[in-house]
Amino acid sequence: MTTPEELKQYVRDVPDFPQPGIVFRDITPLLARKELFREVVEMMAKRWTQPEPDLVAAIEARGFIPGAAIAVKLNAGFVPIRKTGKLPWNTISDAYQLEYGTDQLQVHSDAVEPGQKVLIVDDVLATGGTAAAAVRLIRKLGGVVVGVQVLIELEDLGGRKRLSDVKVVSEIVY
Ligand code: AMP
Repeated sequence: MTTPEELKQYVRDVPDFPQPGIVFRDITPLLARKELFREVVEMMAKRWTQPEPDLVAAIEARGFIPGAAIAVKLNAGFVPIRKTGKLPWNTISDAYQLEYGTDQLQVHSDAVEPGQKVLIVDDVLATGGTAAAAVRLIRKLGGVVVGVQVLIELEDLGGRKRLSDVKVVSEIVY
């Protein structure tokens, strides 16, 4: 098994992207290596087999990549959570705070049936604002959030604190 420290060698640190002061954790080198991509997907999926979620809801855009693969592994459906204006059908919205200003996520209003078990997936957990908005959206639709799974957690930014009532699992911690 590849250790988290070994996986880090395939996460590219890009300073000052997309803004000065941000170190962007770029997972594309990891995704391009078939054994590693498979391994991280299997690693993440196997944490959520008891009970298996009905749906995996993943956050645009990089969350879709592990999210869809995990959904297939778990024999679950897939729900896209997107930025405003991208989804074609009726949506519900949730606004959340960014470092400067606000942003908004949307999901189709018929994406989840009440009582369905939903796993939320994203690539990176930073301040947790995005994942917390995703949790609220799924709950607004009556879904039961079984947890939040991310590939990378930026611990110093305290994302877990904003998700205190949800099980949060990460594979690589910075
Ligand atoms: P946050 O809402 O602060 O937890 O930010 C999480 C969202 O922003 C995720 O969808 C990530 O894809 C993206 N993100 C935030 N910080 C980074 C980073 N340093 N590297 C890569 N993606 C990031």
